[in-house]
Amino acid sequence: MGLNLHTHLEGWVRPDTAADLARSMDVPEPDLGWDAALRMREPADLTVFLAHVAAAYPVLGSADAMRRVAREAVEDAAADGCDFLEIRFGPSTHARPGFDIPAVIAAACEGLDEGRRSTGLAVGLVVCLLRHLDDETNLAVAKAAAEAAGRGVVGLDVAGDELVYPALARYREPYEIAAAAGLGLTAHAAEAGPAEAAREAVSLLGVTRIGHGSHIVDNPSVLAWAADEGIAIEVCPTSNVLTGAAPSIREHPLRRFIEAGCRVVVGDDNPINIGSRLSDEERLLVTEAGLTDVQIRAIHLTACEVAFTDDATRAELRRRYAS
Ligand SMILES: [Zn+2]
Repeated sequence: MGLNLHTHLEGWVRPDTAADLARSMDVPEPDLGWDAALRMREPADLTVFLAHVAAAYPVLGSADAMRRVAREAVEDAAADGCDFLEIRFGPSTHARPGFDIPAVIAAACEGLDEGRRSTGLAVGLVVCLLRHLDDETNLAVAKAAAEAAGRGVVGLDVAGDELVYPALARYREPYEIAAAAGLGLTAHAAEAGPAEAAREAVSLLGVTRIGHGSHIVDNPSVLAWAADEGIAIEVCPTSNVLTGAAPSIREHPLRRFIEAGCRVVVGDDNPINIGSRLSDEERLLVTEAGLTDVQIRAIHLTACEVAFTDDATRAELRRRYAS
């Protein structure tokens, strides 16, 4: 059960696969081994969290590696019982001489498609602009994503350090290109930055969903606005606890989102790094956050409506969750 609407491909690299790829790519083994490098054991902050995610970057810089990691992500999601996987990544991080941004996207799409064919799991790729990059690179990423619309890419996102790079107006053109290509639009916003950042992402970039959005609850008027506008908030409970964005799953803002009438969907953000997959997150929503079956069902039905997917897949998902 469950639709995973916020998860990063870089957070799906199996430690064994990382070790295997590292050997063939001449990447040195981390001091304490791949498992320790990738998995976060206890709550810390966003910097520590991102260091664990980034540990996998050196082994993603070839078409074969990217394809394999993407395929294995779909296999692992299917084994976890997921019904729909929307997975995102920042292709520019993995580009190398001879492996340019369109090639990185193509390799990820191929791997996801191999996984889809072997498991039957519906999957789409969301391409991320990254806040620390220059405008030219982000524009190239958006153009490559738009080119790959209909060939595996389903959406555009912006990720990265929101406190150091808060400005959103600079992504207008990339988002316009993505919108013109029919891609779905989301953005990491109000994750570390203030609630207003979510409203800005909607008004400046035209997004229909907000990644994390934890700080929306700090501002009652933004919270009411998000509910009125039907903005879907993609929550990742365990990830937020490990980065220190939420004190615990019990105290996670998702309950307040629901009480305010906001639309909420769920993701596992970086399952290998946080040691929690979508099925675990959904279980914790009940056992820790105290959500009822009705509330979980509402999350599923919202996800069916806001997923970046084609009409046939959406109709199939609605059928599956209607009963
Ligand atoms: Zn994220």
